[in-house]
Amino acid sequence: MSSVEVVFLNLERTSCSQCGIAFAAPLSWVNERRADGKTFYCPNGHHLVFRESTETKLKRQLESKESTERRLRDELAAAERKASRFKCTACSRDFASAPKLLAHTRKAHNAPLRLPKDAGPTATNTDVRSV
Ligand SMILES: [Zn+2]
Ligand SMILES: [Zn+2]
Repeated sequence: MSSVEVVFLNLERTSCSQCGIAFAAPLSWVNERRADGKTFYCPNGHHLVFRESTETKLKRQLESKESTERRLRDELAAAERKASRFKCTACSRDFASAPKLLAHTRKAHNAPLRLPKDAGPTATNTDVRSV
């Protein structure tokens, strides 16, 4: 009794740019040659190499620009988040919101939320500003 082994291969058909012969190679192998740019040979022995197509090249450039843009946008957002924090002028600590800063100045620096009219020279210490 004989047995038949059936093997399915994903082949990619290509042709030699010099002699025009059509041939096929496993898809994974073809993709590797595309990625590493190594030389291979057509059945007639011509040296072949996959060159990056203009479309692929532009796509790659676009993707790299998009990732740069994304990164810059993230950095900008982070910088804006940082800049919008409220800084205590007395101890330079940052707070996420004005109420938190006010609570801090009252608790840590014993400063009233609203300065009494006779606050005097201590007023500069409780000066609250957003940076
Ligand atoms: Zn050839
Ligand atoms: Zn403080």
